Amino acid sequence: MPTTTPAFATSSATAPLAASTIERRDPGPNDVAIDVLFCGVCHSDIHQARNEWGNATYPMVPGHEIVGRVTKVGANVKKLAVGDLAGVGCMVGSCGECPACKSGSEQYCIKGCAQTYNSTEMDRKTPTYGGYSTHVVVAESFTLKIPAGLDPAGAAPLLCAGITTYAPLREYGCKKGDRVGVVGLGGLGHMAVKLAASMGAEVTLFSSSPSKEADARRLGASNFVVTKDPANLAKLAGSLDLIIDTVSAAHDYNAYLAMLRAKGTMVLVGAPPEPSAVSCFSLIMGGKRLVGSMIGGVPETQEMLDHCGKHKIVSDIELIPIQKINEAYERMIKADVKYRFVVDLGSLR
Ligand SMILES: [Zn+2]
Ligand SMILES: [Zn+2]
Repeated sequence: MPTTTPAFATSSATAPLAASTIERRDPGPNDVAIDVLFCGVCHSDIHQARNEWGNATYPMVPGHEIVGRVTKVGANVKKLAVGDLAGVGCMVGSCGECPACKSGSEQYCIKGCAQTYNSTEMDRKTPTYGGYSTHVVVAESFTLKIPAGLDPAGAAPLLCAGITTYAPLREYGCKKGDRVGVVGLGGLGHMAVKLAASMGAEVTLFSSSPSKEADARRLGASNFVVTKDPANLAKLAGSLDLIIDTVSAAHDYNAYLAMLRAKGTMVLVGAPPEPSAVSCFSLIMGGKRLVGSMIGGVPETQEMLDHCGKHKIVSDIELIPIQKINEAYERMIKADVKYRFVVDLGSLR
């Protein structure tokens, strides 16, 4: 018998989120049932709820930064036990057979992974519903262990914002003494600063607003650059090993590529809707790389959580009851949150 589960859902691109119910399957032999304690609110929740990416299916229950308590495990489950603190991020399934899946990069599954909400299970029929609900059932292979000692509410945004910024830092070899630029200080940017600093990098934060300097330094940045004056960027020509660009509004990538050293790498994790002009000379001169990155695979997400456990890193959050979710969306659009809203699902029980 499926379990009827309280949730907050939206029924169209223009409807507010409201109390509703969904059905969760009984856990199978390879499944884990989790009581959701906290769910982070990602900007992509707004894009999808409002069909801004054109792929919305309704009713939709957003939420892919899930932390909860395991209540039941299937007979084959080994990673988690009843009572453990578990996490679920942006994916709940993938083909398991393609080169991407076999290398632990399930997010790049050739068949397209099953996303945690606004998607289907790999049967391509059963809709998936996210963490704005009191209960989820997920295949063990897409669950994560939350390290002891981390605040579970602050840990929730690690499942998307954390892995999105951790993965490119690791992929492009961030290490002690490296000079890392982080562009933008929002949900992603504040995690990039904390994580790069925890790896021993000297972090330079780039922001259009001078008012963010104190926070950037508190989070671990050594340098702060106001981007409005191009002369500030020109001064840093050739000086950075790696740039993590989290900004999702159009801006000039060439100005940032010029700040990389020879063979340096700039990684895009923010996604402006419009194409951006990149001069081939920005890349050819100095043999530079401009790359993209999307979340991270399951093994790497666990590695990120363990790293955060060791270094006591969580997101800076504002905890809200689910009943405030529509208000939270409006505030996020105005960048009025430091730095991530997290829903306390106790408000829905
Ligand atoms: Zn997200
Ligand atoms: Zn695959």
